[in-house]
Amino acid sequence: MVKKTAALLLMTAMLLSACGGKNEAVPNPGRNNGGTNTAATSDASGSSDAAQKTEAEKSDAGKSAANPKNAEDAKKEGSDQDSASGQNDQAAVPLTYHLNKAYNIVPNDENGEKKVVLLSFDDGPKKAEWINSLIDTLDKHHAKAIFFVNGYRVKENPSLLKLIHDRGQIIGNHSWDHISLRKESEAKVRQQIEDVQKIVKDTVGEAPVFFRPPFGEGGDIGKKIAKENGLLYMTWSNGSLDWTMKSKGTDNPQKLIKNVLDQLHPGSNILMHELPWTTEALDQLLTQLESKGYTFVDPRSIELEMR
Ligand SMILES: [Zn+2]
Repeated sequence: MVKKTAALLLMTAMLLSACGGKNEAVPNPGRNNGGTNTAATSDASGSSDAAQKTEAEKSDAGKSAANPKNAEDAKKEGSDQDSASGQNDQAAVPLTYHLNKAYNIVPNDENGEKKVVLLSFDDGPKKAEWINSLIDTLDKHHAKAIFFVNGYRVKENPSLLKLIHDRGQIIGNHSWDHISLRKESEAKVRQQIEDVQKIVKDTVGEAPVFFRPPFGEGGDIGKKIAKENGLLYMTWSNGSLDWTMKSKGTDNPQKLIKNVLDQLHPGSNILMHELPWTTEALDQLLTQLESKGYTFVDPRSIELEMR
């Protein structure tokens, strides 16, 4: 009898904790820490730094403003649901947020926590040193981010992709070559997106579920093909402008922090890059965001359908 009562109490406790606070920051279940991914089928040579392009040059440069939401996204698309492939591990994280049409992150529940930001780092993977530094800081702040990668860089150095994945961060698709997709043929856009899906899946065992077009320019075709691949298409709503900075700028970290804070709003979708001054700024930036009451949304808690 005592045993039965104890078991009942235990079950009740488990049920209650499973239902949890509906919009709390998602604890990190460490879904990537299993080390079960053995597929390293990329044919890249693994040579690293030699082939790297100059840092800021290939970024989301020039023509894109800090906030590109008006650039080309006025049109709405049908919202018929495609089933999302490659999202096998998502079950562990409740889907409590969604992306709105201005690319902001919004709680599904109107009483949910609105003061959140999404952190993202584009144009890698470039260097283990920078990746480790970024993730050390993310870990310190219990934050998850999306690393939007380019296929050509993954091919050059697949071990860096594994590093991001194995350290529990989320990988997004940023096209193969980092070209503007807006004026490319459908076949070319498909290749630019789907080749990245494949190399990421082959390298870390799961394909991305987030897509960000270079320069924020995916066009209607890019949106369509992203959707066909179960990818949530996004640009950003808070540009750090880190990609406009030059390596000589000693005050880059402070400028970056100011840029983000100047544009800060609930649901900010913050665009940053794998750049040295960004790694340098990150700890202070996250501390300041926290001091303003913001938390960091777990990308895996975001629904894969914009609304
Ligand atoms: Zn980019």
